[in-house]
Amino acid sequence: MKALVYHGPADVRVERKRDPEIEHPNDVILRVTTAAICGSDLHLYRGLIPDTRVGTTFGHEFVGIVEEVGPSVRRLERGDRVVVPFPIACGSCFYCQRDLFAQCENTNPNSELTCGVFGYSHTTGGYDGGQAEYVRVPFADVGPMKLPEEVSDLDAVMLADVFPTGYQAAEMGEIKPGETVAVFGCGPVGLFAMKSALLMGAGRVIAIDHVPERLEFAREWGCSDTVNFAEVDDVVGTLKEMTDGRGPDVCIDAVGLEADGSALHEFLGRVLMLQAGAANVIGYCIDAVRKGGNVVIIGVYGPPWNLVPIGTAMNKNLTLRMGQCNVHRYMPHLLEHIQAGRVSPGAIVTHRFPLDAAPHAYRLFAGKLDGCRKAVLEM
Ligand code: NAD
Ligand code: ZN
Ligand code: ZN
Repeated sequence: MKALVYHGPADVRVERKRDPEIEHPNDVILRVTTAAICGSDLHLYRGLIPDTRVGTTFGHEFVGIVEEVGPSVRRLERGDRVVVPFPIACGSCFYCQRDLFAQCENTNPNSELTCGVFGYSHTTGGYDGGQAEYVRVPFADVGPMKLPEEVSDLDAVMLADVFPTGYQAAEMGEIKPGETVAVFGCGPVGLFAMKSALLMGAGRVIAIDHVPERLEFAREWGCSDTVNFAEVDDVVGTLKEMTDGRGPDVCIDAVGLEADGSALHEFLGRVLMLQAGAANVIGYCIDAVRKGGNVVIIGVYGPPWNLVPIGTAMNKNLTLRMGQCNVHRYMPHLLEHIQAGRVSPGAIVTHRFPLDAAPHAYRLFAGKLDGCRKAVLEM
């Protein structure tokens, strides 16, 4: 088959590779029809995730048709069209029973951190991803969700990660009707956090970024206010001024370890690597949110630690919530939102390419060139 293959930082190629095979009775082999490139893939692409091996295929957001079925699979048959959640979960362990699918203890048992993830290095189990013609999907009776015919691939592929992830961020914010929510980052995850905050009754959603076309789209997407952090002296002060001096009720970090805007954090985290990436957005959230407010970290940080103003958080009586998305928990409910016409998640996609053009797609998305906000590969 043809697949995207990692060769080193900023070097991905489309090459021929062995077709995946059934390795366990509960596997299926999927013929991928659409695979998206995620902001999380950029951390891999830039060589920031440990144990990303040459030869790995990325891709944890994909939709496809079941091609081959393992002997113990009960819920799927050949020809079914499905979307697959990015965390690989067994469905029956201590954590899966508690709906914490992203912490499944059977799919990445050598690590204390998170579960197996498709196409996300050997630190998350070394599973090959779906930016390929075919992919092996373990625990096929647990993860994949069958798709109704009327739901397009473009809408459905957003259910594999970014829509549930943004939704979980808003849910963790415990937004009360009419509250003000500030979302840092207008990438796909931030956009779905904003949309979900509005669905959950937020009165005002403030979007923060420094890419003008992303801020413009956030306004079209329903945000009442936007802040370009590169155009203000102090993003925290600006947010306070916009909210009667107190600060937003909820602040969401949808940026993660590659945040711009702080020379100190960039130098310590991205150049010297003395902390796990740049953690300035967590600091902005803690400083800006009102006292007693909620801070949500949905952007990705590597272990083990970062410079975060935890004493400020303690003294302001804040609630901090964070984590990988337990996608399985949200997919059926969010499919209902799509079917009811309340959200068209595919609308965030700006670029569609054939698999052969994947290296070009990575370059555009990584460089935020040509207005690229979300790119998908269509096989
Ligand atoms: P993205 O790279 O498209 O978007 C990030 C945005 O943040 C960009 O528009 C960038 O300009 C903006 N940004 C940079 N510095 C900023 C700052 N100081 N303040 C405000 N905005 C700033 O990525 P994405 O696909 O939207 O993903 C966002 C984050 O969420 C990534 O870290 C990704 O790895 C993570 N993620 C987490 C989960 C999870 O389960 N927790 C799942 C998917 C993605
Ligand atoms: Zn993703
Ligand atoms: Zn499990």
